[in-house]
Amino acid sequence: MSQKVVKIKFDNFIKYSWPKSCLLCLKPGSQKSSLELGGSQALYCHKCYEKVKRFEKWKDGIFVLAFIMGIIGGILYFISAIREHTVNAFSLIIGTGLFMGLAYVILRVMIFPFQLILHSRLAKPGIKLLKKSSVGTIRIKFANSSYAKEFCQANSQYIVEN
Ligand SMILES: [Zn+2]
Repeated sequence: MSQKVVKIKFDNFIKYSWPKSCLLCLKPGSQKSSLELGGSQALYCHKCYEKVKRFEKWKDGIFVLAFIMGIIGGILYFISAIREHTVNAFSLIIGTGLFMGLAYVILRVMIFPFQLILHSRLAKPGIKLLKKSSVGTIRIKFANSSYAKEFCQANSQYIVEN
């Protein structure tokens, strides 16, 4: 499945016409995705919806885990700083931030093998907003390029670049 980035016109009054098929597998969609654009959402089939929800839960879980590991790391760092008599509030903050960032990166990298193993149970969202490009337009990344094609055909008047 190849992904595709599409640049479209955007304001809050534009009503996009979302294909009736699933963002990921193109089967008939039934569940709304969490990303809302101009008051409407793209669809997932039931199966893909559950997979994406599970994936998002994992990601949140990883964030919390990194946070906890960061605090533990920060405390350990603090203790060692006390021992070495180099302790100050600044080093505690830096230490905690550093450990948190490190734990997050490690856990995020770890999610990839799990994703491969649990391929049938997890799925990344089929649609993602990219960073703002210019005023009045947005860039959307579709996980499925065939879906992106359907979307472009249904919303040709709003397509800036695809
Ligand atoms: Zn699906």
